[in-house]
Amino acid sequence: MKGIIEVQNLHREYVTSNGFLKRKKKKVKAVQGISFQVTKGEIFGLLGENGAGKTTTIKMLITLLAPSSGECKVFGYNTFGEEKNIRNRINFIFGGEMGVYRRLSARDNLLYFANLYKLDGKKIKQDIDLILKLVGLKDKADELVETYSKGMIQRLQIARGLINNPEILFMDEPTVGLDPVGARMLRDIIRHLKEEGKTIVLTTHYMYEADELCDRIAIMKQGKIVALDTPTGLKNLVEGANSLEDAY
Ligand code: ATP
Repeated sequence: MKGIIEVQNLHREYVTSNGFLKRKKKKVKAVQGISFQVTKGEIFGLLGENGAGKTTTIKMLITLLAPSSGECKVFGYNTFGEEKNIRNRINFIFGGEMGVYRRLSARDNLLYFANLYKLDGKKIKQDIDLILKLVGLKDKADELVETYSKGMIQRLQIARGLINNPEILFMDEPTVGLDPVGARMLRDIIRHLKEEGKTIVLTTHYMYEADELCDRIAIMKQGKIVALDTPTGLKNLVEGANSLEDAY
């Protein structure tokens, strides 16, 4: 079956300048020849430690970063060059407060983002009510975001990511910095989104989280995919492992 996302032999290098005169150039091979497909409706996880290349991969998928070489397609379109065919059908959220306005209420934040997508009128107001309910912020919808906890802000981030009713939602470390209760609430929301038919691609540092949430997981190390399977399949690769934490 053809994937809703198709990545083939994808590479990305960064060239950085070092030193006072910035003469010395250094190449960082952030992503080194990865290949995978994501099927419609699945939760696909990119798991790896700091610097493994997860965010770089996500940035190429969401059309923000050009690949150095290889193929990176979403809905059959190249993410670099054909991004116009992709952007309205996806959305992405990063961990933390990036992109939300602390001096606005959650509802006003969402109205603002709806406006960016040129969505207005009665329908979007109803949709915003539904989204706020889904992420458990209905009761606090009209309070300023600066009064919110980290968990509430992260749920607002998900709400923001749903505003254009995306077919694929990309999430970069959605539960980072949250306490166990906040992280669990978020995972419940992510599972609910899958039940609604959304495809989800997320990155995480946490093996137990990938194990609990994802249909398939790609384990990244130093820019490469070192294993890709279902959580059970990955555990079976390493005999005697009871959890992914034990296995890798
Ligand atoms: P983390 O979990 O810490 O976010 P990651 O798996 O998402 O890590 P990336 O952020 O993709 O990893 O980084 C992969 C490599 O590319 C790292 O060595 C990083 O230092 C480097 N890198 C990332 N962004 C840049 C950049 N803009 N310029 C230069 N090097 C970069």
